[in-house]
Amino acid sequence: MLVVANEEDALAQLRAGQLCCTRCGGPLAPWGYARPRKLRGVAGTAVELKPRRARCRSCKSAHVVLPGWCLPRRRDTAQVVVGALVAKASGAGHRKIANCLGLPPTTVRGWVRAATSAASYVARVALQVAFAADARLDSVAPRPTPLASAMEALGLAASALIRALGPVAEPWDIVVAVSRGRLLGPVPPG
Ligand SMILES: [Zn+2]
Repeated sequence: MLVVANEEDALAQLRAGQLCCTRCGGPLAPWGYARPRKLRGVAGTAVELKPRRARCRSCKSAHVVLPGWCLPRRRDTAQVVVGALVAKASGAGHRKIANCLGLPPTTVRGWVRAATSAASYVARVALQVAFAADARLDSVAPRPTPLASAMEALGLAASALIRALGPVAEPWDIVVAVSRGRLLGPVPPG
């Protein structure tokens, strides 16, 4: 599975053999689409996801190319999930957030728990991206919770990328791509 911030750029990169296989590092080629699914967007809107597939030209393994506006194995769009996590990191409780979004509190609590356990990994990869995109960034002050630190790092990375590259995608899409689709875990070992 690959996560990309911008689907159109990803197609061009696939055609040009610029995206690499996560298994062997070989070049990927476009390979049709995966099964479409319906996701829940902002204010309960239904959004269709029809992810592109890619196949490795070397080892022939298949990959799903997920756009940054969704999260692997989640029913809600990145805009909804990232919005909820930003609210939580700013101090709102999960019941209030769930109420605003019209979702069960257990759903939001599940995201918060998952994002908290992935937080140190996400903060680390996000700061690598932020400093790679903008070497002049100051060091980052610690935040009161691991989740708040991770969201702060993602915000720094997204704004540094937008400064460097222009508005290449929506901020939450960039956040998902920067966190390599692992905003809600699972994080790779090591
Ligand atoms: Zn391969």
